[in-house]
Amino acid sequence: MGRNFILLGPPGSGKGTQAAMLAGSLNLLHISTGEILRGEIAKDSELGKQAAVYMDKGNLVPDELVFDIVEEVLGTNKKAGAVLDGFPRTKRQAEMLCEHDIDIEKIFYISVPTEDIVRRLSKRHYCEKCNKVVTYDDEFCLVCSSPMTVRADDKPDVIRQRLRVYHELTEPLVKYYEAKGSLVRINGVGTVAEIHSRMMAALNKKDNKAWGFDNT
Ligand code: AMP
Repeated sequence: MGRNFILLGPPGSGKGTQAAMLAGSLNLLHISTGEILRGEIAKDSELGKQAAVYMDKGNLVPDELVFDIVEEVLGTNKKAGAVLDGFPRTKRQAEMLCEHDIDIEKIFYISVPTEDIVRRLSKRHYCEKCNKVVTYDDEFCLVCSSPMTVRADDKPDVIRQRLRVYHELTEPLVKYYEAKGSLVRINGVGTVAEIHSRMMAALNKKDNKAWGFDNT
């Protein structure tokens, strides 16, 4: 089993971008449950149909359904470690990781003030062709030049529900992992490169603390 990491943070905290960069730097798999689910919706698969009912409203897909996806990807790539992006999102999902002996080296919590989150999400654009690319404010994709679209769940009322769900079900994981001593707080305000270097700096430190804040 390789090294596994979790990226935790509110919607719009930049965790997808940072997870991809961390996975690239450490040669690990990048597992984004949101991206996998959007892929299933695009394929119109049975799983996609089930997931869309929840995702369209800004709600979470049931724990078992999402855990099966993660387990399958990890199971078919046993030796590679992974950066888990958007998983776990509930205490039950975190417990499922433990129950299946999936060891997590560090949990990076990307902290961004709520005002920034709302501003970022309402401007977020998505490239359907590249699938992974999420950028802000751009009309065309920086990678393939296709016109950018807005993610179905980045509409104002759905954003509000996703934030409610985040505060109620996902944010408690910060305390849960902090109590286990494996959580590192990363200041998520700054350039993509700055945030990445904060994570890389925190990577090999034994004492988990906060990185990139005024007093650190
Ligand atoms: P994301 O791309 O991470 O923002 O996820 C988009 C949507 O996919 C979320 O709002 C949820 O509806 C669903 N989703 C992604 N990951 C999970 C998860 N771990 N548990 C439940 N639902 C998830």
